[in-house]
This record gives sequence, C-alpha cells and structure tokens, in this order.
Amino acid sequence: MHEVALAQSIVEIVRDQARANHADCVKAVFLRIGALANVEPEALSFGFESAARGTIAEGARLEIERTPGSAFCAGCGSDVQVESRVALCPSCGSGQLLITGGEELRVTELEVS
Ligand SMILES: [Zn+2]
Repeated sequence: MHEVALAQSIVEIVRDQARANHADCVKAVFLRIGALANVEPEALSFGFESAARGTIAEGARLEIERTPGSAFCAGCGSDVQVESRVALCPSCGSGQLLITGGEELRVTELEVS
C-alpha cells in the first residue's frame, strides 16, 4: 500500500501550495497519473481522504486524470501506447520497448477559496 505514503506527500504539496496562495480552503485537487505509475486511483483517493483529515485539504475532491503509457519500440521504430511495463509492441510483437511516458504522478491544479 504505497498509496498511503503517496497520499501523504500529495497532502503536503497541497498544504504548501494552499499556504503560498493564501487559500482558506481547498475544494479540489487535480492529479495526473500515468498508466505506468503503478498507482491504484481508488486506493489513492481513500488514502488521501484520511491523510487530509485535520488539514486544509480535508474534504477536498480528488480529480484524477489518467494518461496513457507510451513507449518507443526498438524493434520496429514505432511510438506506441502501452498499458503495462512488460507489454509487447502492438505493431511487431517485440519486447524491446523503451518507456517514454506515462510514469508521472503530479498535482496539476488546485481549486481553492
Ligand atoms: Zn515494434
């Protein structure tokens, strides 16, 4: 359950940004999670709810945007979309994929008041 630790660091980021913006209350937190980030959004939402308790982020809505995983195939030279790190190239079936995107986990925006 590394989502709990992740949720705690998200709450810290939110708290710092809210303070920097002189916000009284955080209504929503927008997150971008790559398909290859190895994060379970439901577990993260649950962890966030409990990590936010007693902080400025308490009760904030978590808006999660999933981004697809992308890779470059060294076998056929295509840029492809992948669902997992151990995927095979959908064009040529090669396993020589270099992950190029979809591993990020970022707080992209806060809705505050
Ligand atoms: Zn290929």
